[in-house]
Amino acid sequence: MDLEHLPRVALADLPTPIDELNRLSQQLGGPRLLVKRDDQTGLATGGNKTRKLEFLVADALAQGADMVITAGAAQSNHCRQTAAAAARLGLDCALVLGGEAPPTPNGNLLLDQLLGAQIYWTGPHRRGERLEEIADQSRQAGHLPYIIPYGGSNAIGASGYVAAMLELSQQLASDYPEGIDHIVVASSSGGTQAGLAVGARAVGFRGQIVGISIDKEEAGDERYLVHLAKLANATAAHVGLDADFTPSDFVVNQDYLGDGYGVVSDLEREAIQLTARLEGLVLDPVYTGRAMGGLIDMIRRGAIGPGQTVLFWHTGGMPALFAYANALL
Ligand SMILES: *Cc1c(COP(=O)(O)O)cnc(C)c1O
Repeated sequence: MDLEHLPRVALADLPTPIDELNRLSQQLGGPRLLVKRDDQTGLATGGNKTRKLEFLVADALAQGADMVITAGAAQSNHCRQTAAAAARLGLDCALVLGGEAPPTPNGNLLLDQLLGAQIYWTGPHRRGERLEEIADQSRQAGHLPYIIPYGGSNAIGASGYVAAMLELSQQLASDYPEGIDHIVVASSSGGTQAGLAVGARAVGFRGQIVGISIDKEEAGDERYLVHLAKLANATAAHVGLDADFTPSDFVVNQDYLGDGYGVVSDLEREAIQLTARLEGLVLDPVYTGRAMGGLIDMIRRGAIGPGQTVLFWHTGGMPALFAYANALL
């Protein structure tokens, strides 16, 4: 494997810290809980997309692009981090967002606009359905656009999480030599979990990586596992790791989809409040609130025992809290 030779621009503050959640663990009578702070990657409030963008934006620059285009929900953290990366590198940025323009932009959308991104609204579509069309328009206007897929989840973007797993492995070796049993992480477009799986294979990580599925559209029986295996194989090839992944190599819990993407229920509300009040740690309403809610439920049901060590991978998303104020209290 050879990550060193892949084009990469430094955007993230790395390594991100690992903190202990002792009071939350005690409250749950549960396992030792660690948190990997990828909410602290630093790019316009940080998050997991920053690691992917280090490789994606480097590829855009290598191709001579003067503009990046990507897509997501109105409160997309991926879009906000892309807008920030583009600003930092002097690239134009167009964002193709699902829904309609709200009367007052807040949360990530406010940041998108402050960061200078151009916004296109696409009604019910939030997964990049109009990316090619917007790219064509910008080519006609004289731009050289680079398309970043939904969630930044292709082999190039997922390489950021291969690198993240190498980073974690070094931190564990020096600070937690006893190791960890599980990594729990929100999983949606899949680049994070697929990249972690490739990195885990590369370093011989023996714990289990549990993705908590966030989005009904991705979930559904085998389909998401097949997607993860494909993405992991493409990522392994991209980073030069000789490895073969099948759907059975992945663990994804689809029990916490609730009423769908971005719909806050008691599960997320309780997890966000508990974590905030016991640890001073802020989760987000769409991804990490749901993933932590799932972890808490698994602990309460005994699926994860008190003698174990769990690392919760905090993937960011804090700005979306402000757009969900009414659902959170
Ligand atoms: C995008 C995102 C995820 C999911 O990561 P994927 O690589 O798309 O699976 C998790 N948490 C937050 C906060 C995100 O913005």
